[in-house]
Amino acid sequence: MSAPSPLLEVSGLSKSFGGVKAVDGIDFTLAPGELLALIGPNGAGKSTTFNMVNGQLRPDTGSIRLEGRQMIGLTPRAIWRHGVGRTFQIAATFASLTVVENVQMALISADAKLYAMWRRARDYRRDDALELLEQVGMAAQADRPCSVLAYGDVKRVELAIAMANRPKLLLMDEPTAGMAPKERNDLMALTKSLVVERGTAVLFTEHSMDVVFAYADRIIVLARGRLIAGGAPAAIRDDRRVQEVYFGTGRTFERHTATVVPAAPAAP
Ligand code: ADP
Ligand code: MG
Repeated sequence: MSAPSPLLEVSGLSKSFGGVKAVDGIDFTLAPGELLALIGPNGAGKSTTFNMVNGQLRPDTGSIRLEGRQMIGLTPRAIWRHGVGRTFQIAATFASLTVVENVQMALISADAKLYAMWRRARDYRRDDALELLEQVGMAAQADRPCSVLAYGDVKRVELAIAMANRPKLLLMDEPTAGMAPKERNDLMALTKSLVVERGTAVLFTEHSMDVVFAYADRIIVLARGRLIAGGAPAAIRDDRRVQEVYFGTGRTFERHTATVVPAAPAAP
């Protein structure tokens, strides 16, 4: 018997915009259940890569195979049906619906039960929706409209929505953008616990190197559209080429330990 094939196999992937080679012949694989971080400076081609994998952008060249099946040319919807879920860089919930209704909409969509929207959408798999919300710690807010939620809570609802059709691969492009460090860690810890339990693979980008090193099983590094390094977090942290592309961007691989403000001298 041959070795099990990777869940995702990307090879020779390229995309240009005008004269800019946004992504320039990249190859990588992702194993079932693996958390792979795609990092690199701004403009490196991370979002372009994501948008090719989810079908929003058509590559100029290359191949994207999910469980051996070619995804290039399929619509985003078809790719989602094959098991590629995503969260959005900008929170994308229906503000006028409640939290649980948003998750129910995702379940309706996952089940391809369009008619249910016209019928009893309010009852549709409500228990399943509540269970998903329980898993992201949002069950208590199930009946509040999404419009009143704190930003970090919207992101948790989004995660529940993305998990509703039980994706094999979850794409997260800057899931923690706009969040404070503690919230970032909480969201990624939550994501990790959810995906580990279900064996879901995750491809994510993230600006906080603390988060990347804490949660990625493996890291690949893009610079000017090319993959310049890949490996375990510890190896990437020590990689000179990686340090060089980050040097001068204002981001470093140093731990962002909180600045220690000297305590005011105690009153005599
Ligand atoms: P990242 O997500 O790593 O910051 P992007 O994939 O967004 O990088 O962008 C890679 C390069 O492609 C950048 O030079 C960017 O300006 C360019 N680019 C991305 N999308 C478009 C587009 N729709 N039209 C023109 N240029 C684009
Ligand atoms: Mg981007």
